[in-house]
Amino acid sequence: MFDVLIVGLGPAGSTLARLLNGQKVLCLDKKTFQQGGFAKPCGGLLAPDAQKALARFDLTLPKSVLVDPQLFAVRTLDLATGLTRHYQRFYINMDRQKFDRWLQTLIPAGVQVENGAQVTHLARREDGFFDVTYRQNGQEKTATAKRIVGADGADSLVRRTFFARHKVRSYVAVQQWFKETHKSPFYSCIFDPQETDCYSWSVSKDGYFIFGGAYPAAQCRARFERQKQKLAKCGFQFGPALKTEACRVLRPSGWKEFCLGEKGVFLIGEAAGFISPSSLEGISSALISAQKLAAVLEPNPSPREHRRYARATLALRLKLWGKLFKCPFMYQPFLRKLVMQSGLASISIIS
Ligand SMILES: Cc1cc2nc3c(=O)[nH]c(=O)nc-3n(C[C@H](O)[C@H](O)[C@H](O)COP(=O)(O)OP(=O)(O)OC[C@H]3O[C@@H](n4cnc5c(N)ncnc54)[C@H](O)[C@@H]3O)c2cc1C
Repeated sequence: MFDVLIVGLGPAGSTLARLLNGQKVLCLDKKTFQQGGFAKPCGGLLAPDAQKALARFDLTLPKSVLVDPQLFAVRTLDLATGLTRHYQRFYINMDRQKFDRWLQTLIPAGVQVENGAQVTHLARREDGFFDVTYRQNGQEKTATAKRIVGADGADSLVRRTFFARHKVRSYVAVQQWFKETHKSPFYSCIFDPQETDCYSWSVSKDGYFIFGGAYPAAQCRARFERQKQKLAKCGFQFGPALKTEACRVLRPSGWKEFCLGEKGVFLIGEAAGFISPSSLEGISSALISAQKLAAVLEPNPSPREHRRYARATLALRLKLWGKLFKCPFMYQPFLRKLVMQSGLASISIIS
């Protein structure tokens, strides 16, 4: 019987596993760090809020996690108006797989970590505890735990199992990797209301050019391909795709879409809907929500833990909710045009 069973070892799950002291913990993650074992599409940009969270943990980022080049500006394109602006940014460009692996190495030895372990079924027992079934190395295994933590990302099985009626606005993120052939690598953000009411991006990493976007599920691949054609006319160089990735990405559209869990089930990170609806930045919220949960879990389960977790994440939820008010200025075509035309906060490029 484990005190806590964590499903998912992304930034949220690994951080929680690192911080849970004195509890018997089992962590299950379907990914492996072997070739092809990690398929999470991500821009791999560490935003200032995530840097601050790491700073508060007194953690420093190993150089091996960084990629080339580091970026200081985002080129913003509005395909509806043809406007382009550059804005200064303070991101760290990194290898997302190596970042996740590094966070996992920080988990203390006393915590049981199982990679290549895909959770397939979760059930609450009559005594209020949980049976969890997972597949590992072709075998079906079961574990029992007093509490379950869903740190399993946007498409969380934990959320779908215990809170099946809970809905969060979501998109399909499609991303492709190409050989980098641009003379000067760049980071871009693309608005194209014909294809999506969210946004698309491109970034360079260690000789690769990555292009991706978040699209409504209907015809997401066709929208992606059409956008590539439009961007090719704007000077983007694609060439043959070396890798194609896709996943669900959440974009909460209201306060009620955050899902914290109840009755011994907790959700952290993107599984809880903790992701910025304006930028889709989610690593900082994953780190922060994990730390908040670690601080409230007691040796024995109690309903008090849920109330304390709700209080502890109030500031985070308010911050993410507040970003909804920024959205019209980014995503409403007329307001975006006004903002971009004004040149507000943009920088001039001297070539
Ligand atoms: C295309 C794209 C680009 C993004 N770019 C950025 C960016 O540049 N910067 C940023 O801050 N955020 C970005 N985000 C958001 C960010 O990736 C997520 O919000 C963040 O990773 C959430 O962390 P998490 O730990 O909650 O979940 P995840 O990182 O999604 O981790 C979930 C973990 O759970 C595991 N898992 C899932 N289901 C199961 C199961 N059934 N059994 C076992 N294990 C399971 C997965 O293997 C995974 O390791 C991006 C998102 C997308 C889709």
